[in-house]
Amino acid sequence: MPLTIRMNSRDNVAIVANNGGLPAGTVLSTGQILTELVPQGHKVALTELKKDDAVLRYGVPIGYATQDIAAGSWVHERLLRMPQARTLDELPLATIRPDAAAPLEGFTFEGYRNPDGSVGTRNILAITQTVQCVAGVTAFAVQRIKTELLQQFPNVDDVVALEHSYGCGVAIDAPDAVVPIRTLRNISLNPNFGGEVMVVSLGCEKLQPERLLPPGAIPVIDQRHNKLGDAALDVVCLQDDAHVGFMSMVDAILRQARAHLQRLNARRRETVSASELVVGVQCGGSDAFSGVTANPAVGFCTDLLVRAGASVMFSETTEVRDGIALLTARASTPEVAQAMIREMAWFDAYLQRGGVDRSANTTPGNKKGGLSNIVEKAMGSIVKSGSAAITGVLAPGEKLKHKGLTFAATPASDFICGTLQVAAGMNLHVFTTGRGTPYGLAEVPVIKVAARSDLARRWHDLMDVNAGTIADGSATIEEVGWELFRLMLDVASGRRKTWAEHWKLHNALVLFNPAPVT
Ligand code: CA
Repeated sequence: MPLTIRMNSRDNVAIVANNGGLPAGTVLSTGQILTELVPQGHKVALTELKKDDAVLRYGVPIGYATQDIAAGSWVHERLLRMPQARTLDELPLATIRPDAAAPLEGFTFEGYRNPDGSVGTRNILAITQTVQCVAGVTAFAVQRIKTELLQQFPNVDDVVALEHSYGCGVAIDAPDAVVPIRTLRNISLNPNFGGEVMVVSLGCEKLQPERLLPPGAIPVIDQRHNKLGDAALDVVCLQDDAHVGFMSMVDAILRQARAHLQRLNARRRETVSASELVVGVQCGGSDAFSGVTANPAVGFCTDLLVRAGASVMFSETTEVRDGIALLTARASTPEVAQAMIREMAWFDAYLQRGGVDRSANTTPGNKKGGLSNIVEKAMGSIVKSGSAAITGVLAPGEKLKHKGLTFAATPASDFICGTLQVAAGMNLHVFTTGRGTPYGLAEVPVIKVAARSDLARRWHDLMDVNAGTIADGSATIEEVGWELFRLMLDVASGRRKTWAEHWKLHNALVLFNPAPVT
């Protein structure tokens, strides 16, 4: 049966859902006859289009026809001229006030409560590093901690070295250096690390431990006064005169790690409200199905999370830039809308400095998967944000301050976006993909949602949820959204592991450093 999907009643194109595409001569249920083969995920013209006519998908122009296009033809990227990006002037500010949906009550998970009130979904010892120079020594020590120490502390899930490329050889006083520095600081304070911060430093690096984690950065419970106090910074410095030989450094890291492992091991999961979830959503390896199946299911789940009082972040600035008017209209206040515009303007200038614009986002795989340009990709990407009012905005590397739906400005790069969402305090990550990626993080569980059933079948031991059932007609967006919501509570509780956790697929932390290196 020929299967096509149209997203909006205004659309003059639909995408072909059938595996392998549809051959010339196929009669669609809407009456058109295909003039040529249209691959799966690609667009077919539902009406005759004249040169310069707007091609509408999601009810908006994703491009303009560069020539006349007959009904039933394949509308590929070479037949489309991309629209200009909307200017950031005169945008609607908080004009739509989405009705606050009924609160979703009674959902809980088993999490680790932290001294600062946040809740972890995993109990991990993270070893912070001030500079890349110490990465090899720290990795050596972590290997020994895993083989010699970890089995003595069965309640601790893992030991993770927070390796990164920053810390020296950088213009550390440049205004934009604030981004990588606060990112590293806030990663160390992620809820999954239980407030047990330990640092390995070289000694001579630009990013000194006190600059990375100044007094007051690490909250602990002051038992005597029963209030939040200030933990002393625990640093192993490799250039310290006391170290004679490599093993002295390694032993020092093991000794310090033992003290943190003891405290982490004493922690127990407790029942907490689903409102303690801090979920980062993103997509990668996208195709035309991402915006039809997986992202709408995530969007439905985002609405459930917001109704449950949880925190949800959507990101990927270049993938929301073309939907900015929809988002500023959905902001809860004009101030939130202005903050979103400020982040877009900053990123526009950043791209311009590099001689490109948002169109640099799309990949060969996106185009092969039917996404003609960034406008079409963006319309499918912002669906992940659901329909709730946007109540918060974060600049890159900042820590989340609000419950509800937040726009956390990040590049769309999977690893950089994930890294910045870890810094924002995410305790659960949801990742959608159409073409497939084995993405995973050591710091936070990653639930992967396949946009196509064919991908879910082939990658059956990498994908956690199959949203392709929506295109097949065997499940609804709502059903997959609820499946994802329930899976999140199981994964957050440690009752279920994601496939990326099962195989220990860990991508690197990749810092966003818009400042110069020296
Ligand atoms: Ca991405």
